[in-house]
Amino acid sequence: MALFGKKDKNPAPPSAAPPRVRQLPPREALCGVCNARRPFSRCWVRTEAMIQCPNCGLAFDSPARLYRLLQPACPQCGEFLEQPGFDYGLCDNCGSKHEIVAGTKPILLPSKAQREAMDKRGRAWRPE
Ligand SMILES: [Zn+2]
Ligand SMILES: [Zn+2]
Repeated sequence: MALFGKKDKNPAPPSAAPPRVRQLPPREALCGVCNARRPFSRCWVRTEAMIQCPNCGLAFDSPARLYRLLQPACPQCGEFLEQPGFDYGLCDNCGSKHEIVAGTKPILLPSKAQREAMDKRGRAWRPE
């Protein structure tokens, strides 16, 4: 029976992925979107590589290949991937995700909607 080859249009929900993070205590950090110090109540450290995209649900065939890049991203939707050993947090005020590096400015990891909005305004969103 033909299935019209649309199998990959039905990605598994991202919640199906096992937790590969460890929660961290809340902290205050400079939000790159608010451009001000904000409380970050939800912070975590990633303990293992991502095997599935949290945005589009794509399961990665070879996460190791993606993680060879300086800034790994989902090959399907461009969502930035969290890297093992790095801290992440969400701004309480705007919900933006940042990579939090001790002693330096947190790096904004823009969501798909944020990337599209920035592209429209011609603003560079890439770190560096
Ligand atoms: Zn913010
Ligand atoms: Zn994706």
